[in-house]
Amino acid sequence: MQNSEIKTTCSYCGVGCGIVVTNDAKNGVTVTGDKDNPVNRGMLCSKGMNLHYVVNDTSDRILYPEMRWSKSHPMERVSWDAGLDRAAAVFSSIIKKHGPDSVGFYISGQCLTEEYYLVNKLVKGFLKTNNIDTNSRLCMSSAVAGYKKTFGEDSVPIAYDDIELADTFLITGANPAWCHPILFRRLEQHKEKNPKIKIIVVDPRKTDSALAADLHLQIIPGTDIVLYHALAKRLIEKGYADKDFINNHTENFKLYKDLVMSSSLEKASKLCGISVDQIKQAADIIGKAKGFISLWAMGLNQSAIGVDKNTALLNLSLLTGHVGKPGSGPFSLTGQPNAMGGREVGGMANLLAVHKELANPVHRQEVADFWGVDGISEKPGLTATEMFEALESGKMKAIWIICTNPMVSLPDSRRVEKALANAKFVVVQDISHNSDTSKFADLLLPAAGWLEKEGTMTNSERRISYLPKGINAPGEALPDVDILMRFAKKMNFTGFNFNTTEDIYKEHCLMTKGTNIDISYLNYSRLKNEGTFQWPVPDYGHPGTPRLFADKKFFTPSQKAIFNIPTAIENTSPAPNDEFPFVLTTGRIRDQWHTMTKTGKVSRLMTHIPSPVLEINPIDAFKSKIEEGDIVVVTSKNGTVQVKAKVSDTIREGVVFLPMHWGKQLENDLNRTNNLTNTIVDPVSKEPDFKYTTVSVIKY
Ligand code: SF4
Repeated sequence: MQNSEIKTTCSYCGVGCGIVVTNDAKNGVTVTGDKDNPVNRGMLCSKGMNLHYVVNDTSDRILYPEMRWSKSHPMERVSWDAGLDRAAAVFSSIIKKHGPDSVGFYISGQCLTEEYYLVNKLVKGFLKTNNIDTNSRLCMSSAVAGYKKTFGEDSVPIAYDDIELADTFLITGANPAWCHPILFRRLEQHKEKNPKIKIIVVDPRKTDSALAADLHLQIIPGTDIVLYHALAKRLIEKGYADKDFINNHTENFKLYKDLVMSSSLEKASKLCGISVDQIKQAADIIGKAKGFISLWAMGLNQSAIGVDKNTALLNLSLLTGHVGKPGSGPFSLTGQPNAMGGREVGGMANLLAVHKELANPVHRQEVADFWGVDGISEKPGLTATEMFEALESGKMKAIWIICTNPMVSLPDSRRVEKALANAKFVVVQDISHNSDTSKFADLLLPAAGWLEKEGTMTNSERRISYLPKGINAPGEALPDVDILMRFAKKMNFTGFNFNTTEDIYKEHCLMTKGTNIDISYLNYSRLKNEGTFQWPVPDYGHPGTPRLFADKKFFTPSQKAIFNIPTAIENTSPAPNDEFPFVLTTGRIRDQWHTMTKTGKVSRLMTHIPSPVLEINPIDAFKSKIEEGDIVVVTSKNGTVQVKAKVSDTIREGVVFLPMHWGKQLENDLNRTNNLTNTIVDPVSKEPDFKYTTVSVIKY
């Protein structure tokens, strides 16, 4: 370690807590919460406070490049040159024979912004395909589309500091008590000091977040928009609509009002499984709020109607005028550490750098000119699930996977397995041999992990932090930017002669000049010396922007926010039937993160919930003759899982829950939740419908 103590940012969720890292010969790396960090003020959750175990335990690390010469050959150690020569030769030959769209890159919201920027430039600017997508597709793409439709730009309007200024919170489709613990701790502390503040939680499960709520609406999955419209109707009827805000700063209110007024609270009550009285109570709490914040996550985003759910929720903030004011606004919670950085550099198949649009020819030309290339393909790239479908069908021949484990995290795992087995060439660039995906690699590239490289990340509140390198990577592992630059050189691409990671960041910052996410006056020096910044940072000496839209000017052409009318109000996923009578919803547990390649090797994190269990309501369990601890077989049209049953009234009747984390174990895959999940995606965001798969459950 270059210094005995350094400050950095947690590598897990999008809250982005500050961490102080110390390193000494006796103890190795240890971590504590950074008391000076404005996000967590010294607090860390169970995952963050155990990060040092992940760093100190290098037993599972990929230490040098490994390659097999054909599918029938075993993997063998090779030099970086040999591995990347082969990658360049195979990618060149496939592109020459089948065209640029026969290859693709699947990357991660854990990538640092510089890595994200570089790989996008490489793929979209030089490989000439837009087939680059990220596991953020599984996380935030519905929220991104919702923000764009409502505010004209992918823009989280508020800051964590607004929590302490608000008096009313609507947490919907999220369990921040487990998934964003430090953010939730701030909310709990705020309520402890101000008992009158109100928390409403909308969730089919009585989560720890719901237990802390003043009002829990235990909704039937998929009916969120019906509820939001019912709340809107009540708000309008009771005179809680902010007429001044609506008249002066929004568009499309009449259509929205006509729609929400055309239904009844009684009908909504029946569809949502929530009493009329509870709907009225929730609306009246929101209507009386001085500062109203809505918080949501995958319960809304991971849906066949995820974008509509997002815009329907955003409409409630517009209706009540709670945007651009202290303690007010919608706030999407993000699962990955570089919550917004990947979006800033256009790290998805339909986006371009600095929030430019791939579909816009002017934007394509601007990006091409900036990169000094002769154009960007107008053909939309394949999104996460589409990419694996294309590998399965043979349309795509090669894939390069960076820092993510699609074998466990994508829906319909067996299909992903077939896709990877069918691919001509699979490159996996990762830190751990424990990833199920690495077993499919033809070329395995050892990457440096957290603390072993430098770069930046942007958390869920647009806050950019600098992460310094603290220790050397083990073996021959290299920072991802170095690997990508070496590959670019092998491909004879110009435009990748960066001497330092900072040079990459400078290019990215320069590109943002004049855009809504302008950070052209930000640099490593300011981040190192002055701390974190919330974008935009458009002038020299600018302190950053905690709250957007304070002037009520939005990023739409009219500068007004837009009430969107959903294309579907009720869920479009297949409904439960006699064969598959339950709705399976999936999600995180408190002490695990993603596919457990890091948290799964920390023994103290395995004590909370050591193996996956199916939560099932006591009435459903009784009808199915299932008792606590029984092994149950859960079946959907895609596959089967066998796990223990946890009989609990924390979940509503007709719904079952499985954690998302577990992959293949002990030579079988019966723990893997995504054996079951369907491949339906939202038609706009292409985000998978993880929260609504119909299944049967029987005792083994
Ligand atoms: Fe890390 Fe998120 Fe926990 Fe903070 S809340 S310590 S960012 S996992």
